[in-house]
Amino acid sequence: PEEAELEALQHVDVAARLPVPGAESDKYRRGVVGIAAGSARYPGAAVLAVSGALRGGAGAVRYVGPAADAVISRFPETLVSDQGPARAGRVQAWVVGPGVGDDASAVAQVLGADVPVLVDADGLRLADRSAVRARTAPTLMTPHAGEAAALLGVSRESVEGARLSSARELALRYGATVLLKGSTTLVADPAGGAVRVNPTGTAWLATAGSGDVLSGLAGSLLAAGLSALDAGSVGAYLHGLAGRLAADGAPLGAHDVAAAIPEAWRDVR
Ligand code: AMP
Ligand code: MG
Repeated sequence: PEEAELEALQHVDVAARLPVPGAESDKYRRGVVGIAAGSARYPGAAVLAVSGALRGGAGAVRYVGPAADAVISRFPETLVSDQGPARAGRVQAWVVGPGVGDDASAVAQVLGADVPVLVDADGLRLADRSAVRARTAPTLMTPHAGEAAALLGVSRESVEGARLSSARELALRYGATVLLKGSTTLVADPAGGAVRVNPTGTAWLATAGSGDVLSGLAGSLLAAGLSALDAGSVGAYLHGLAGRLAADGAPLGAHDVAAAIPEAWRDVR
């Protein structure tokens, strides 16, 4: 039975994994997360991914892409670069994909970096499977059911009807950790083992840009040194809790979810 292979993530497990700076920490040792996201058409995806990353525990967020003006005007603490990801300067983990449109070059450059990478949204469609498989550093892929279906070459309905095996199958095909989003979010490791199931969340999170916030948040946790499995599951847990706190029974915008991450963090700690 599918239930036997699922492991519910507990509050205490999340608390134990939160990256907390020590007395001797500096921003570089806390981790720099690189965000390759957004385009002239979708600048908001870059802003939202950065907003999640700023609340995820990395010491600095570096943005690379065409939406630097929008990002900086909203979040002046962001480091920006007008070079591509391959020349952006040191980062400890990358997030690539939200709103990048057809920028396959950004995706290829990020996949070529020897640091953990989170691939989301447009990046999932543009990522070459052999390039992902050839990576030696961890890869975390964060599809919703529609994106997972496109990668597996099946219908969305068949992914929805077999979420556990779909997440596992994708993890095996790509040699990557897979976070399958939805009303229940699953995180599957390519090495096998129990698939983690996230207990937090609210249907109010079914709103534009919500996934972009999660990608930045989980990417920041990767940069802070969490494994792909932990970054994905802790990120999903905090994101779901932030959604509940932000919504509190009423509609929300994705930027409200990002703003509620610190409250979720304090709640878990
Ligand atoms: P995306 O589709 O990339 O914008 O991501 C949507 C985010 O909202 C993911 O974190 C999903 O897990 C979450 N989400 C979407 N629909 C629901 C739902 N019905 N209940 C709980 N969370 C949801
Ligand atoms: Mg999305």
